[in-house]
Amino acid sequence: MTPSTSSTSRRAEPRDDLRELSGYHSPQLAVAVRLNTNESPFAPLPVFVDEWLGALRDVDLNRYPDRGVHELRAALGSLLGQPAARLFCANGSNEVLQTLLLTYGGPGRGALVFEPTYALHSHIARITGTTVIEGERLPGFHIDPDAAAALVRERVPSVVFVCSPNNPTGTVEARDTVEALAAAAAEVNALLVVDEAYGEFSHWSALELVDDGRPLVVVRTYSKVWSMAALRLGFAVAPAWVIGELEKVVLPYSLSTPTQLAGVLALAHRGEMEDRVATIVGERERVVAALSEHHALTVYPSGANFLLLRYDGNAHALWEALLEQGVLVRDFSGWPRVEDCLRVTIGTAAENDAFVSALTTALQEVNE
Ligand code: PMP
Repeated sequence: MTPSTSSTSRRAEPRDDLRELSGYHSPQLAVAVRLNTNESPFAPLPVFVDEWLGALRDVDLNRYPDRGVHELRAALGSLLGQPAARLFCANGSNEVLQTLLLTYGGPGRGALVFEPTYALHSHIARITGTTVIEGERLPGFHIDPDAAAALVRERVPSVVFVCSPNNPTGTVEARDTVEALAAAAAEVNALLVVDEAYGEFSHWSALELVDDGRPLVVVRTYSKVWSMAALRLGFAVAPAWVIGELEKVVLPYSLSTPTQLAGVLALAHRGEMEDRVATIVGERERVVAALSEHHALTVYPSGANFLLLRYDGNAHALWEALLEQGVLVRDFSGWPRVEDCLRVTIGTAAENDAFVSALTTALQEVNE
């Protein structure tokens, strides 16, 4: 047998249950206006970058990072009024979600998601061998608290995901809904995970509900408001008994020293970041007003740094017509429940102007 035949006939196969899985698809295209991944349109503050680069010079690169992430957890804890024992940090909130599912999901266990929602909740659930249980939303994309709590009692998942503000719809769930779901989760010994990747843009946060007596985890990220998507840093705020379990599962030394340092140093510039949030929220409302001129579009209320638009026509053609003008938004036209929809990230004022004007042209072209 020649080496080439042996390599094709004896190819290693992935796990059976992973065969049907498709990866995460969001095109990364080099266009002028990138409004497709909900990042901050602003670079990190130069003063922060200088402080971080300066601090890096003193790092013993031959040593592993602080495995317990003590300084960053203490800094986040004092910012949020929580003890460090309720903080867990990882490489982006995706890794936080993965660690949660590795710990509390797995074969024979279920994760409940309310669709449409952030695709990685069900994607990581499947990768970890967790059964995905799909709950539905009301027509305007809110979760019905009574129906959702009943579903928790009926299906007895191990993990319940609520994304608020929800990606891709922008929907913010009411405090009553989160409390009802936390109570239902407690009844069946499940964990309620509230993904607040966009929480800073919303009028309330489930962070205020976290204590050791409730099975509630709130997940946040430095990728959006803190302009640090490239560095990969996210965290969970959860009962100390949850954090202890996550620490057993996450890889040792997984959070690099440069990332830990960046997380601590960024917090000194909280005021500027809050100003940026206010700017983006103001821009979001300006874009909503501009889009209201187009009767073929429905814009869903958003508490995030993006808007979901439903187009009464061919949404994929509209996406292409925007791309031809150098504006990249996220195409949801192939997704169940949001078939006619595009999602646009709020950018700088200039980017938003470019989007609004390209959209006007695109709507004319697609209608012709
Ligand atoms: N949760 C939600 C709802 C998101 O939209 C994203 C980013 N798209 C993430 C988590 C992951 O963010 P990161 O891993 O960059 O923290």
